[in-house]
Amino acid sequence: MNKQIITIVSLLTFSIGTTSLQAQSQPANSVSKYSYYDAFSPGFYSKNGTEIRSASGQPGAKYWQNKADYQLMAILDEKKNEVSGTEILTYTNNSPDKLSFLWMNVDQNLFKNDSRGELIVSVSGSRNGDKGQVFDGGHKIKFIKLISDQNGKFTERDLKFEIIDTRMQIFLPEELRPNGGKIKLKIDFSFISPNYGSDRMGVLETKNGKIFSVAQWYPRMCVYDDIKGWNSLPYLGAGEFYLEYGDFDVKITAPSNHIVVSSGELINSEQVYTAEQQKRWKLAAQSDKTVTIRSAEEVLKQDSRPAATGTLTWHFKIKNSRDVSWASSSSFVLDAAKINLPSGKKSLAISAYPSESAGQEAWGRSTEYTKSSIENYSKRWFEYPYPTAVNVATNAGGMEYPGIVFCDWKATGEDLWGVTDHEFGHTWFPMIVGSNERLFAWMDEGLNSFVNILSSYDFNNGEYKVNPRDMQRVGGFLTGTDLEPIMTAPDGMKEQNIGPLAYMKPSLGLKMLRDQVLGSERFDRALRIYVERWAFKHPTPDDFFRTIENVSGEDLNWFWRGWFVNNWKLDQGITKIKYLKNNPANGALVSIVNLEKMAMPVILEVKTKSGAVSRVKLPVEVWQRNIDWKFKLDTKEEIASITLDPDHVFPDVNPSNNVWENGKSELEKEPSLTAYVGKFSSKQIPIKITLTDEDGLLVGTPNNGQGALNFESAGKDKFVSVRAGVELQFNESKSEFTANMGGQSFLFTRN
Ligand SMILES: [Zn+2]
Repeated sequence: MNKQIITIVSLLTFSIGTTSLQAQSQPANSVSKYSYYDAFSPGFYSKNGTEIRSASGQPGAKYWQNKADYQLMAILDEKKNEVSGTEILTYTNNSPDKLSFLWMNVDQNLFKNDSRGELIVSVSGSRNGDKGQVFDGGHKIKFIKLISDQNGKFTERDLKFEIIDTRMQIFLPEELRPNGGKIKLKIDFSFISPNYGSDRMGVLETKNGKIFSVAQWYPRMCVYDDIKGWNSLPYLGAGEFYLEYGDFDVKITAPSNHIVVSSGELINSEQVYTAEQQKRWKLAAQSDKTVTIRSAEEVLKQDSRPAATGTLTWHFKIKNSRDVSWASSSSFVLDAAKINLPSGKKSLAISAYPSESAGQEAWGRSTEYTKSSIENYSKRWFEYPYPTAVNVATNAGGMEYPGIVFCDWKATGEDLWGVTDHEFGHTWFPMIVGSNERLFAWMDEGLNSFVNILSSYDFNNGEYKVNPRDMQRVGGFLTGTDLEPIMTAPDGMKEQNIGPLAYMKPSLGLKMLRDQVLGSERFDRALRIYVERWAFKHPTPDDFFRTIENVSGEDLNWFWRGWFVNNWKLDQGITKIKYLKNNPANGALVSIVNLEKMAMPVILEVKTKSGAVSRVKLPVEVWQRNIDWKFKLDTKEEIASITLDPDHVFPDVNPSNNVWENGKSELEKEPSLTAYVGKFSSKQIPIKITLTDEDGLLVGTPNNGQGALNFESAGKDKFVSVRAGVELQFNESKSEFTANMGGQSFLFTRN
């Protein structure tokens, strides 16, 4: 679906971010919420790999999925806004289970007045549903018949079925056998299209006729898988789709003055286009520049349609697809251009729009956008699999289907590029990689929004490139307490949270993982392999996480856990620095702290008094067993400032503790060690310890042959060895100290 929501969200976060940046600088909160064992604990996966889904994230040796092949015949009644049709479904049960019933989606039932989806629309309205249109909506199913082939003799018999909201259960007279059993059904269906169909289909009035954008239009198989068995969650509006793959043969009968565009390849061009238009189609198939098939001026001319009375039937085919959608209108201006694919194969970019949308500022560039977008994604990730790619101007804000997308007819310039690129980006997620959208919106919207970021840089030398996001600005918003975790099903998110949680947070998280953790080459390789492994299959979130980890070789449980599974915040801070022996020429010790529950690597920029600037990078592992951390800078002069996350690449919710500034922030004085050195012994244990000053470090050497320990100053009269977990606390006169270790205390007195 489209990302218009995001634009609003970005504007909001921009203003939120500005406020927080202008907030008064506050001292670091010394109470940390961070728990390194929560953040890094092993056992991220609740299930082990199986023979169906390998622990490495690839489909296992016994991976299976069912198949749904459709023959669809539909008639469009322009006056009644009605689509009626017949479906011949061939369903193949590759699962190891016998099936005594089937579940299908009858999604048009969302638009019945009493549907669950309509009844959960809040008083203030919703993007979902039909915006309160009063009409006779919903799927009408006249019959479902089982087609049997008894030695070449076909018989049909009625099957019992029950419709429950947007699902339909079909009871089989005999169980469908496992491991390849096939069944053939004939279904008679019809529905009246809503004008506004949950922003995914509908009817738009234009000056030259209605534009019908037709989707969720025929009963579609629910997926039966190894995760849930039947995936029969209702269509409530927010959660999109989860569909089986198969081959489609589609015949659409529309008024003869209409042009029909659809998923797949048109088989009978000579019957539905004029001779001149067929010539132009051939030209377009050879052309990198957009070729007009039917101009705005020609739309009203009778000779721009073949001589026919009544209706024409359009025949399309598409293979290995999870769905088919189409659009029909008398108003369509048409243009097209060739798409060049990496293997040498060609596809065809097509745009269909009303003359109101024409022009170089608007849909006149749609074909150029479509071609460029698909060529780029094919190069970067996986080759585009369909013979055509159609962009249709409709009253849906932006919606994706295999080989066809519906975009806002009013969109122009950068917005039209953005929505076109986004909807065709969905070819890869979820059309090629067939994840479960109804449960995991981030797996399609998030991954797609991520590849859109790269695409915007690639298009036409960055004509519409978006500037890198200031993560400190959006960090507080993206981890705000009003947000659910990304892993929440979209139907379980507040409607206003779907933009941030399905699109923005996962895509920016993946960008962060790519740029700051794995590096672009390693990340891109892992994502490519994920797409290859799961092309035309059904991955789960674990299959994604496991693939990225296995290909990159990194255990990323801390990242998935903080950003995807939980809604954890990040707050890194600099607490203080000190010069060794209080002399800047000896270098400095910098103390940093992790205050919130999320861990991230550390990037610091150090400026010295003479103006020299350098960067320090620490891996995320500094937080694997520490809440705070101290490290040495080999500077030779006074430090002017140190800045954590200088490029704002991490979602730090409290940037006010990210800067240490000379003269303003805490400079710790190292105590003179003279008063502490000497020989000490204890009555409780037979060990003598000699403390010496070695280059500013207090070193304790026991007389029992064990190695010496370095102690660093840790407050008034206190020294610690982090390595050994020993703390020495001296008394005021330094005549004795208590050694605390492992919960025990031993008193040592000066000899
Ligand atoms: Zn989308």
